[in-house]
Amino acid sequence: MTHTDYTKQILNIKDENIYFNENCLEIKRINNVDTKVFHGYLTYTPEYCPKCGCINEGFDDIIKWNFKKNCKIKITKVCGFNSLLILDKQRFLCKNCNRTFTASTSVVDFHKQISNDTNLNIKLELMQKGSEKDIAKRNNVSSNHVNRILDKISQDKLIKNNGILPKKFGIDEFSATKDTISKMAFITVDHENHNIFDINDSRLSLDIEKYFKRYSKNERDKVEFITMDLYKPYYKLMHGLFKNAILISDRFHIVIQVRNALDNTRIKLCNKSNPNYKKLKKYWKLILKNESNLDDTNKKYNKHFKKEITQKDIVTYLTNTDKTLYNDYQLYQGIIKSINNRNKADYINIVHNNINNKFISKKMKKSLKTFINMENYILNSFDYEYSNGIVEGTNNVIKQIKHTACGYKKFKHFKARIMLIKGILNPITQN
Ligand SMILES: [Zn+2]
Repeated sequence: MTHTDYTKQILNIKDENIYFNENCLEIKRINNVDTKVFHGYLTYTPEYCPKCGCINEGFDDIIKWNFKKNCKIKITKVCGFNSLLILDKQRFLCKNCNRTFTASTSVVDFHKQISNDTNLNIKLELMQKGSEKDIAKRNNVSSNHVNRILDKISQDKLIKNNGILPKKFGIDEFSATKDTISKMAFITVDHENHNIFDINDSRLSLDIEKYFKRYSKNERDKVEFITMDLYKPYYKLMHGLFKNAILISDRFHIVIQVRNALDNTRIKLCNKSNPNYKKLKKYWKLILKNESNLDDTNKKYNKHFKKEITQKDIVTYLTNTDKTLYNDYQLYQGIIKSINNRNKADYINIVHNNINNKFISKKMKKSLKTFINMENYILNSFDYEYSNGIVEGTNNVIKQIKHTACGYKKFKHFKARIMLIKGILNPITQN
């Protein structure tokens, strides 16, 4: 193997026209960091003149002129060291047009100082969780350079907008960036492949309408199911846009509503004049737990009760200390049970029989009113297994991405990162 061969092996350089001499490597301190500096040169016989297009057939057409010396190219790290390729590039003179030009290489684009391999590596890292700042540091480039790559990715179409919508999808919103309206973005998740379909930078009804109307009416009419939380304006909007779709309220959000109402009642009882104050404060989790999952056999010594007691006994005791708490609790557990058993009749009975119950809290009553108001959509969730669980899961991943990067200033960067990390966008194959 020649020096050229093994140096190129180490640096993963495939360009046949780059050569290295025996003493091509030196260690230099650059910006206070030890850097491996490789010196090489680039030369070949050009096939034609890029200036005038004249074909190079012999000595009279294009001749080697001089070298453009010391072109700096940042390459990927070697054994963890920042590395630099200093390339002397051959210059040519075209006798046909009398102009000169410089040799080009696949290692780096014309007029660029960062190698294509480094850029590829940055793109690969952008597909993993991790902040842009860390990616920049690992690749020995500026954060701005990483952001420019993200910019370019976001300029290309972020979705394969071939005019086809998922037949079953969920919608939701999530906290996005300052440059989105009210800092919220709108997300559509495909129920069939369990992945993001798209993210829109506004959740306003008008914008969402405009967004979905990019798809033909024929395509929109093919949508079969849409899941969403209990935000009423979305239902009207979705009905208008997707006339054949069955709208399904998310089961989880139904439970959350009554759960919050019950917890609110408990918190109100947590004042220091209440003799059960400490117990109510400590055992909030048990009160909110699905009754059937409470342990009612194992007694454990409890310092608050000063005796051995089961989980079930603790909850029974606490819920019996207040009439509103007791009634809210029964209602909450009843709704959980009816939903878990997909028992529509039970659910309807519980909601309708309690709407005039004067012993439940105001907040609980408000939840029941919402439920009656949206009964058709809620009952759909008993008939069809689709829920917004996958959307919520996706939103958690989005939160993590935002958190790792310590937030994003630009929506387009945030969106590009989400799409890259979720594997919807592949910057390597997209060109
Ligand atoms: Zn020429």
